[in-house]
Amino acid sequence: MTYDDSNVFAKILRGELPCHKIYEDDETFSFLDIMPRANGHALVIPKSPAVNLFDVDTATLCAAIRTVHMLAPIIRNAMEADGILIQQFNEAAAGQTVFHVHFHIVPRWEDTALKPHTGEMEDSEVLAENAEKISDALDVA
Ligand code: AMP
Repeated sequence: MTYDDSNVFAKILRGELPCHKIYEDDETFSFLDIMPRANGHALVIPKSPAVNLFDVDTATLCAAIRTVHMLAPIIRNAMEADGILIQQFNEAAAGQTVFHVHFHIVPRWEDTALKPHTGEMEDSEVLAENAEKISDALDVA
């Protein structure tokens, strides 16, 4: 599959679509999933275009996983989660719905079931509140 820069994450990177941003550096960008599987569900994307694991170059992938590694404990603390699930889907058959490579960071609690993948749209106020919690935790990290 060739990269199509009309995908939603490319639009978010260009500032053409809004998002609840939590982090950005030279190579990566992170924001909250609009249909979270759990409170505080975040996405990490590289700024370079790549569809998924099959075309991304190693340096780009390393930058993305470095950001996942940095953010996961901060999100766990900010959301007071018991654990963190990392998910990464490649191709539609595997559940990929947005064709710009990304990692999911999903907070988990012992007594809380995972919501379905791309289930219900979350209220903007809830996303804003969670983004603020995570950004505050990042500021003091
Ligand atoms: P995947 O199925 O792994 O490709 O995941 C794509 C994710 O992007 C899904 O979890 C969607 O809920 C999420 N998503 C789709 N559109 C947006 C958007 N505009 N802002 C934030 N997350 C989105």
